[in-house]
Amino acid sequence: MSSFLSRIGSRREESPPTSGFVNGEVSFWHRQIGMPTPRSALQGDRQYDVAIVGAGYTGLWTAYYLKRDQPDLRIAVLEGDFAGFGASGRNGGWLSAEPPGQLRRYAAARGWPAAADLQRQMFKAVDEVVEVCSTEGISADIHKAGVLHVATNPAQEARLRDHLPQLRAAGWGSEDLIELDRSELSNRIRIQGAVAAHWSPHCARLQPAKLAVGLAAVVEGLGVDIFEQTRVTEIRPKQAVTEHGSVYADYVIRATEGFTAGIKGHRRVWLPMNSSMVVTEPLSEAIWDEIGWASAELVGDGAHSFGYMQHTADGRIVIGGRGVPYRFGSRTDVRGATSSDTQHQLRDLLVRYFPAAGKIELDHAWSGVLGVPRNWCASVHLDRRTGLGWAGGYVGHGVAGTNLAGRTLRDLVLGRDTGLTRLPWVDHTVRNWEPEPVRWMAVRSLYVAYRAADRREFGGSPHTAAIARLADRISGR
Ligand SMILES: Cc1cc2nc3c(=O)[nH]c(=O)nc-3n(C[C@H](O)[C@H](O)[C@H](O)COP(=O)(O)OP(=O)(O)OC[C@H]3O[C@@H](n4cnc5c(N)ncnc54)[C@H](O)[C@@H]3O)c2cc1C
Repeated sequence: MSSFLSRIGSRREESPPTSGFVNGEVSFWHRQIGMPTPRSALQGDRQYDVAIVGAGYTGLWTAYYLKRDQPDLRIAVLEGDFAGFGASGRNGGWLSAEPPGQLRRYAAARGWPAAADLQRQMFKAVDEVVEVCSTEGISADIHKAGVLHVATNPAQEARLRDHLPQLRAAGWGSEDLIELDRSELSNRIRIQGAVAAHWSPHCARLQPAKLAVGLAAVVEGLGVDIFEQTRVTEIRPKQAVTEHGSVYADYVIRATEGFTAGIKGHRRVWLPMNSSMVVTEPLSEAIWDEIGWASAELVGDGAHSFGYMQHTADGRIVIGGRGVPYRFGSRTDVRGATSSDTQHQLRDLLVRYFPAAGKIELDHAWSGVLGVPRNWCASVHLDRRTGLGWAGGYVGHGVAGTNLAGRTLRDLVLGRDTGLTRLPWVDHTVRNWEPEPVRWMAVRSLYVAYRAADRREFGGSPHTAAIARLADRISGR
């Protein structure tokens, strides 16, 4: 164990962020621990038992569980940039039991008991990540104080209430989800305009890049080969083709989430949806006294454009939201660079909720891509004949979901028939997105509609705006 940890130390220097506002550069989380020196690229053709494309949480958890359970497996992870370059090193740090997909859709396909199984496994996945980090010595600022979903206007409150029966049907019991009124909420956190909230214990805060980097080091220490700066251009049965040679393997697992459109033949599979974040400078004690939030729960609002927040281990607020939702042709951002409009929107949201933070500076803004399937439901798949597999399409709920997917892929690759391989997201089929320019026009229109609906609802309208209901129906949300 200590050798893995000393290796992390030799690759990265723990250093506080330099002063001055930074835009992009992957994420604040990576800057906080020092940008990595990439591992070596693949050199020429190689043979393995399992090739995994992408060194985000999906790829790394899959490698971890496979190698831990069957140490003689030869496993290669092929990563275009560096481990944690994607959403895994940029996210909001909600290690949450919310399922990566719509339970009602899984229920429609396989029944409510199957959807409830998935939910039970998501509850467990949160604790599994916490436990593995502890046993493997991955220090990722993990703190399990639960999550608050806060209604910040009457329409959001109505949606929170309407959503409750579905959650109860899926197994969220009275201890898994507790309703809070305005005054109970203000004992925890004081958000301007908040009218009601739900609190659940099934969520932990973490520093995303610390998890990705730490997990990569653990996986490498177990004997998995990680090749960085090695972009896979094509995935074929039993072969991953890169610019530096091919990896031939019995199983080739695609774990590329929001970047999947960049692989030959996969352009319309998952839509790369942007999410953007900003982080404040550390807040003074006086400001924290006004806000409360002493337990560092994760906090989200009920807006259609969804604002989500973290109280970081070093006393900052990270706030995220949709920003520019989608780029024509499924393009992704350049190392997380974020438009100034999006930065202003997120700052306005922060100040709307916490007027006491009105004068504080932002330190960093960045963006990343989620993988969004046409019906907003994640899937895990392995074809034993061709050896091709994948997991992803988590939309915004992949931090815990990737762990469950990694264990499920392990069972599928090892040919085990387990409770995990029977979960309803295994082999869940989803149709492709529409071709361009329809895709771009549709997503842009949807987010114009969601923003208009949010404006109406913040203006006091007590019901979900009709335009948002229509957008939900068209988008498949
Ligand atoms: C801003 C933001 C905030 C989020 N907040 C949360 C949150 O708080 N909670 C939550 O549960 N989820 C959140 N998510 C979603 C979550 O981060 C993802 O679902 C999860 O990290 C997906 O992990 P992954 O390994 O599947 O994909 P990624 O982490 O994106 O990893 C894919 C990897 O594949 C590599 N790659 C891509 N193409 C190729 C190629 N052709 N060849 C080789 N390598 C390639 C990429 O470089 C990348 O490293 C957020 C996402 C974003 C963007």
